[in-house]
Amino acid sequence: MTAERLITPTELRQHHYCPRVVFFERCTPVRRRETVLMMQGREKHQAELKRERRRTLARYALAEGERRYDVRLTNLALGLTGELDLLIVNGRMAYPVELKHTSRPPDPGHKLQLCAYALLIEAELGLSCPHGLWHSSRTRQTHEIVFDARLRNRTRAAIQTIVDFIVAERCPPPSTQTNKCLECELRNFCGDTL
Ligand code: SF4
Repeated sequence: MTAERLITPTELRQHHYCPRVVFFERCTPVRRRETVLMMQGREKHQAELKRERRRTLARYALAEGERRYDVRLTNLALGLTGELDLLIVNGRMAYPVELKHTSRPPDPGHKLQLCAYALLIEAELGLSCPHGLWHSSRTRQTHEIVFDARLRNRTRAAIQTIVDFIVAERCPPPSTQTNKCLECELRNFCGDTL
């Protein structure tokens, strides 16, 4: 796997939302403009990360652990590269943490994203990741995402799917959920949608 074909955990989430979002970014000069909502989301995320440093591990149901921030990992065999905001390490066990400013529970795209970090951590740091933690800064709820064999297989399959269309420069089908297209800033470039 060459470096330019490495997939990020964020792209796995985006791919689950709509495969074309990743295709446009990787295979065309088309770039998504940052909307006001995106900018506000990014700012809230940064503010939450600052607050996170002052909190205990109780919200993650962990008695102890070392927090590591901005953990950058790359593994050519997995075809993955990415930077994790927060990793909690307790002995040989590690728990990737994802903070989101949303009132919705984690969707399958979020689970793929977190599992991709787990695969990277296990491959590069030699630690075990039984589950990850997905925390909503809106609802204050933390969801435990178990990295079982099914989710790991789905994550590896999604990486391969993305690599395949990047290599072939083949535009994937549009999202079947047309409500996504209605509010999509790439809509003008998708001639076969609404
Ligand atoms: S307009 Fe629809 S199909 Fe095109 S990128 Fe956006 S969500 Fe995907």
